Amino acid sequence: MIPRFRPPIRSRDVLRALAVWERDAVEAFETAFARLVGQRHALAFAYGRAGLALLLDALGVRGREVLVPAYTCVVVPHAVTYSGNTPVFVDSVEPDANMDLVRCGDAVTERTGAVVATSIFGHPVDIDALNRLRLRHPGVHVIQDCAHSFDARWDGRPVQTCGAASLFALNVSKLTSSVFGGMVCTDDAALYARLRQVRDARLARGGWGRSLGRLAYLLCVLPAFHPALAGLVDRLERGGRLGGLTRYYDDARIDMPADYLAGLTPLEARVGLAGLAHYRARMEVRQRAARYYFRELSGVRGCTLPPCMDGATYSHFAMRVRQRDHWLESARRAGVQLGSVIDYSIPEMPAYGASPPEAFPVAARWARSTVNLPLWTADERVLGRVCDVVRACAKRFGHE
Ligand SMILES: *Cc1c(COP(=O)(O)O)cnc(C)c1O
Repeated sequence: MIPRFRPPIRSRDVLRALAVWERDAVEAFETAFARLVGQRHALAFAYGRAGLALLLDALGVRGREVLVPAYTCVVVPHAVTYSGNTPVFVDSVEPDANMDLVRCGDAVTERTGAVVATSIFGHPVDIDALNRLRLRHPGVHVIQDCAHSFDARWDGRPVQTCGAASLFALNVSKLTSSVFGGMVCTDDAALYARLRQVRDARLARGGWGRSLGRLAYLLCVLPAFHPALAGLVDRLERGGRLGGLTRYYDDARIDMPADYLAGLTPLEARVGLAGLAHYRARMEVRQRAARYYFRELSGVRGCTLPPCMDGATYSHFAMRVRQRDHWLESARRAGVQLGSVIDYSIPEMPAYGASPPEAFPVAARWARSTVNLPLWTADERVLGRVCDVVRACAKRFGHE
């Protein structure tokens, strides 16, 4: 089966994980990461969400409202809640699924402490609109959630540098990975010093047990998305046999992993460092795959392609279709696993108030209609098979 994604970690990167004699791996990873995204400072965390929670703390945002997209990863409002703030949701705009920045500006009140701007699926956020918002509301901190967009560009300018700090997530489904992990980057030396203080004051570095747990997880995940095993794992996953292993969230609860303050393990940092060495090559593969899909699928009736934007990083090639469940099932039978990231609108979740879909209509539409295509290879035989499946589904299941 052609898997929906493959972790951006090569088998030989696992050997690097075992290089226990390498000293100061976390600091080395931070330095290399800052260089990659072109920012002055980087600080590593156990998860992206942990970085966001502590960043809000370091910014002095507490007991305030934080504006977040209705259509983003659910851990974002979880982190906002854990930092002692209240997430306030803003709907998206239709073409690129990014937060509606006009609505976002209108939603600012005297209680607003920050805005989490997100380049969802790697579609760059409109920096000009954000800069207008910053001018109008100088007291509101802008945080760039770059979990899907390492170095996405708006009009040639990197999105991560617009605002107080940027957030990157590094789990195995992201653009580059340190097993788990997250990074906060900033050009502001004072903020960096405060965040470092906040992080280190709460840091309870786990011992060997945690590192070994990460290694065991990595050794399970790498083969699970190999084409030879992906079919079996897909069946187990759908049969509920993998239980908590693959479940990312519970829509009735706001929670964080028990070890979220424990920091990135040196083992993970070494895997992360190894991955940075082939980051550019992997991004080139993704860009080539995305260009292939745009070329081969434009004009296919029955699916809406993602926006074709200069400067996008395409963490996902997110199309919209009608009757998504039929698409997923039909593609699976043809040996292609499609993704359905992000298949929820957060304000509809019971934990966040169970709003009706009409309250955030654009998020609701994207949540119900998006499928994403594999981007881990530029092999045209693989991409060609995916396109055949897409054309067949589009013909059978009609247009959105
Ligand atoms: C993955 C992700 C995060 C952070 O995820 P962690 O699992 O906490 O590392 C944040 N925002 C978005 C949009 C994401 O996709």
